[in-house]
Amino acid sequence: MEIIIGKESGFCFGVKRAVDGVENEVKTKGKIYCLGEIVHNEVVVKRLKEKGVIFVDDLEDVNNNENLAIRAHGVSEDIYDKAKAKNLNIIDFTCPKVKQIHSKIKEAYNQGFKIILIGKKDHPETIGSMGYAKDVYVIEDISEIETLPYFDKVFSIVQTTFSFEKYIKIESKLKEKYNDIVCVNSICPSTKNRQEECREISRKVDFMIIIGGKNSSNTKKLFDVACSECENCIIIQDENDKKIEDSRKYDIIGLMSGASTPMETIDKVVEKINQIK
Ligand code: SF4
Repeated sequence: MEIIIGKESGFCFGVKRAVDGVENEVKTKGKIYCLGEIVHNEVVVKRLKEKGVIFVDDLEDVNNNENLAIRAHGVSEDIYDKAKAKNLNIIDFTCPKVKQIHSKIKEAYNQGFKIILIGKKDHPETIGSMGYAKDVYVIEDISEIETLPYFDKVFSIVQTTFSFEKYIKIESKLKEKYNDIVCVNSICPSTKNRQEECREISRKVDFMIIIGGKNSSNTKKLFDVACSECENCIIIQDENDKKIEDSRKYDIIGLMSGASTPMETIDKVVEKINQIK
C-alpha cells in the first residue's frame, strides 16, 4: 500500500498565525473572546475552548474592557468601531492577505469605482470585506453577471479561498460586460497550490481522502476537485469517520486537507489507515 500526502496539507500561513497567536495570548491573559470560530475545525475550536477562549458570534456578548481576538478571515470596519466603543483590547489576527483586500476595496471605492466582490455570500471573509465600501455587489457564480447593472467604472476582487478555475471564467465574463474594469485576482497562492496539488494526486490514486471541517468551504472545493479526477473520494473531518474503513479496498491512497486542518489530524488519519490495512 502507498499513501500520498499532499505537501500543501495542514494549516495555511494565516490560519496558523491566528491559532498559534490566540493560543499564546490565552496563556498570558487567561481569558480571551474570539469573534466567530477561529477556524472551521471542531477539533481546534474544542482545544482552544478548553484553554479559556470564549467564542461568540456577536460583540453584544462581550463585556466592556475584555480582550477580543479577530480571526484570520477578518471583519468589517464597523466591528473595529464597535469594539473601540466598548474599550475592548483588540488582538488582530486578520490574515495580511485579507487586510490587503480590505484596503484595495476601500481605495477603489474612494476613487469612484463600483465594487464587485467574487466570493461565497455567506462566508465570513466575504461578509467582512463587504464592510469596506458601500453597495458592494457580491457574486459567486458566473450566471449572476447578467443580473448586474451596467456601471462606468468597475473594480472586482475575489475571496482568498475561491476556486481558481471558477474565478478565471468569471473574470473573463466581467471583462466582456464592462468596458472600464480593473480585476484583481486576490486568490491566495496557498489555496491555488492546494487545489492544483489535490488534482495531481487525485489523478494518481485509487482512493482520495479529503480532510477538513464540515463548514469549511475550501475543503468542499478540494473535494469537488478530487471527485473530478478520481472515482473513489471521501471527505472526512478526522480519523473517527467510519468512511475511512473503505481504505482497505485500495492500494494507492491520497490525502489532502483543507487550510483549517492541523497536521496532527492528518497524522492520526494516516495512523488509522495503517491500522485498517
Ligand atoms: S488561505 Fe491564504 S489568505 Fe486565507 S488565511 Fe490562509 S494564508 Fe491567509
